[in-house]
Amino acid sequence: MSRVCWHVLGAGSLGSLWATRLARAGLPVRLILRDEARLAAYNAQAGLTLNENGQRQTFAIPAQTVSADEPIQRLLVACKAYDAEHAVAAVAHRLTDRAEVLLLQNGLGSQDAVAAMIPGARCIFVSSTEGAYRDEDWSVVFAGQGFNWLGDTPQGAAPVWLDELKQAGIPHQWTADIAEHLWRKLALNCAINPLTVLHQCRNGELQAHAEEVTALCAELGHVLHCCGQPGAAEGLLDQVQQVIAATAANYSSMYQDVAQGRRTEIRYLLGHVCATAATLDCPAPTLNLLRLRLIEHLNARGLPND
Ligand code: NAP
Repeated sequence: MSRVCWHVLGAGSLGSLWATRLARAGLPVRLILRDEARLAAYNAQAGLTLNENGQRQTFAIPAQTVSADEPIQRLLVACKAYDAEHAVAAVAHRLTDRAEVLLLQNGLGSQDAVAAMIPGARCIFVSSTEGAYRDEDWSVVFAGQGFNWLGDTPQGAAPVWLDELKQAGIPHQWTADIAEHLWRKLALNCAINPLTVLHQCRNGELQAHAEEVTALCAELGHVLHCCGQPGAAEGLLDQVQQVIAATAANYSSMYQDVAQGRRTEIRYLLGHVCATAATLDCPAPTLNLLRLRLIEHLNARGLPND
């Protein structure tokens, strides 16, 4: 039986982590790059490199641009949340009638925007706690063990190809409540990441700002209840404190984005929570103030504030 090809849109950190592990398991993978210049740069290399536990292994994964004409049956969207809609629009015409589209984006908002654009496809949301970064172009470091929750919003049956993730050693589980996982991760992010940017500190240093963290968690819990996500609110403060302690020496992803002058995903994180609260007439003064402080911080550094 011939296997369906995994088309991976965006060969950045997470896209490369998935592509290389799938290729290592002998599964068919194609990278989809943004343009001819990126394709030429990739083709000048021997392939995509995975650096895991200090071992580097390169995989000659074929690549193409968004404008290739090969049909796409299974698409893994591995762009940042703010690029996902635009990137998927460029390949939407290539999706087959029963295409499946996996969305790896952090936060919320981008997934629904993509799904609305491709109503014929089955969109599967992924909440990932794995960690990866690029040490150079076309080379990814697997930096943190984690887990991937997958699910879709009409709560369909688990796809048969989950076996392929198992074969590739990608830790995962299908869930009937992916929205709860995504909201929970979003809440954890909102309670930690913006404060690390504003206080210019590692996660652990937030222990010195316990009152601020506690107030944020209380309000996040309230907003999650308003959104019909009480499960995502349960024990939030405890988990936030655990994450802060367990990752005390780390800089949050938002801290790193700002420190390196990169655009943040604020719109899909804190911005999404504030926008949803406003739509539901749910008071969120602490979160709104935090968002304004963060925007001011980004403006002062000349970074996009959405
Ligand atoms: P990243 O390293 O910046 O990779 C994004 C990739 O998307 C880049 O390679 C970029 O191409 C590509 N891209 C952007 N627009 C494109 C387009 N129009 N067509 C084709 N490719 C396009 O980002 P990441 O860290 O992998 O993050 C991806 C998502 O996963 C984010 O939402 C992030 O929050 C989430 N996430 C990441 C991690 C992690 O550890 N990295 C963990 C959990 C969740 P160029 O290389 O040409 O710029």
